[in-house]
Amino acid sequence: MSQTSMSFRQRNLKFPHRLSLVIAASIVLTSVSANAGEYLNGIKWKKPGVVTPGKTDSAPPSDAIVLFDGKSLKDWKNGERWEVKDGVAYSGKGKIVSNEAFGDCQLHLEWTAPVPVKGSGQGRGNSGIFLMDRYEIQVLDSYDNPTYFDGQAGAIYKQTPPAVNAMRPPGEWNTYDIFWTAPRFDDDGKLVSPAYITAIHNGVLILNHFELKGDTPYNRPPAYKQHPPTGPISIQDHGNPVGFRNIWVRKFTPAAGEQVRKPFIRDGKKETPIED
Ligand code: MG
Repeated sequence: MSQTSMSFRQRNLKFPHRLSLVIAASIVLTSVSANAGEYLNGIKWKKPGVVTPGKTDSAPPSDAIVLFDGKSLKDWKNGERWEVKDGVAYSGKGKIVSNEAFGDCQLHLEWTAPVPVKGSGQGRGNSGIFLMDRYEIQVLDSYDNPTYFDGQAGAIYKQTPPAVNAMRPPGEWNTYDIFWTAPRFDDDGKLVSPAYITAIHNGVLILNHFELKGDTPYNRPPAYKQHPPTGPISIQDHGNPVGFRNIWVRKFTPAAGEQVRKPFIRDGKKETPIED
């Protein structure tokens, strides 16, 4: 054993508390040096806009476009053929189609299945919300009403059932909160990226970033056919007086930023780029 290590050993045998101090100090130093550098992503973000939320999470936020506030269906084509009574719009003769068109968006609406209960399966409280007038999320009285699963309430019609059945009984109000990513097409009409939907039914997640296979017809497979980047929202008339209220939409644009430099670690005045 060398003189040095011998003396070290001896010292520490003699003063064991010194060893603890050395260990404690080295732990502190290690953690300080681990925290000394800050990761910076090199993106210059645009300042996010300010939105004032509604009084409740169901009420329209300040940047929402209200499509139905209980008074009239003036913002919809064919709205005059649906009945509006006591703040509720009842599906009537033919679909209604919003005057305004939307791409990526957040859609809130509330709906109630008819009372007294009439019919069964697809014949009970059937309607539907069509994003871009093409892609249906089913509206149906699915409270104790068996039908094919990819046709029950919250289904993307003929493509997927909802993950769970979160229906309230007929006469009570259901809410849909829908998060829509529109499909993208190139100039030649080729699909560049499909549509995605996330949906919450009465506070319950039922679809999580589901990738649509195309549109949602009854009589043929789903397919994508080029259409403009925005399209109207339509609500189906399937012969049942489903009630709707509190319909609003927010156009959605993600936070924007520009990569102005490579990501780097900043440690005091020293900046070290992170290589790919
Ligand atoms: Mg339907």
